[in-house]
Amino acid sequence: MANEFAPCTEAQKQAVLERLADIRQNIAESCAAAGRDPSEITLMAVTKTVSPELINLAVNHGVSVLGENRVQEYLSKRAEYRSSAEVQFIGHLQTNKVKQIIDKVSMIQSVDSLHLAEAIDKAASQQGIIMPVLLEVNIGGETSKSGISAEELPTLLKEAGALKNIRVDGLMTIPPPTADESEQIQTFTAMQQLYQQMQQLAPLRILSMGMSGDYPAAIRCGATLVRIGSALFGARFYPPPAPSLI
Ligand SMILES: *Cc1c(COP(=O)(O)O)cnc(C)c1O
Repeated sequence: MANEFAPCTEAQKQAVLERLADIRQNIAESCAAAGRDPSEITLMAVTKTVSPELINLAVNHGVSVLGENRVQEYLSKRAEYRSSAEVQFIGHLQTNKVKQIIDKVSMIQSVDSLHLAEAIDKAASQQGIIMPVLLEVNIGGETSKSGISAEELPTLLKEAGALKNIRVDGLMTIPPPTADESEQIQTFTAMQQLYQQMQQLAPLRILSMGMSGDYPAAIRCGATLVRIGSALFGARFYPPPAPSLI
């Protein structure tokens, strides 16, 4: 597939570097407020719709983890990525697509059913690897979102934990977007408590929560990995839908 991205302007590159510096500053301040060390936080750059040129710029400036949402988009771009960054899958994953990425990612963050966990386990076994995964929790309880409920989590953790070729390293969540910081804190605190409770069932070390609009609150509530897209790369541009035939 041809690279459909136009070359980036100097101004675009400069803007990404400035935003990256701002994000690091915000992470440091949130850590200071919470008595945490910034080295506890992994900054993931979320790459959907972003050109490989800008992604590589971030990698060249120390971003070491990339987050991919879409299998096809990742497969079309990955040949151009600097190999020094590790790539994790964070989007909704259909079981029939697992094989296409199993040997091209270092973690799958979006496991929300035993069915998917089993498909990853099987594909990992065929590769002779153990795939680290996170279980995605629907902490906001929205019916439209992916992720399992807090009530179903202990069962999935036990069942997925028994599979030989995956290893459950932690939890991930995408809460309902809100600009209200006290709501953000309330949701992330619920997630933090769940994470602590689950430590009794399995040794978890990653709590993936916080995106462009809420990562400072997430860090104050114990996030160990924040997934940042638009605050780093700018607003996402989705191509307009094809013209209607009517
Ligand atoms: C797009 C996306 C992000 C980043 O969103 P921003 O608000 O642009 O930071 C994080 N996590 C997941 C799962 C996403 O799909």
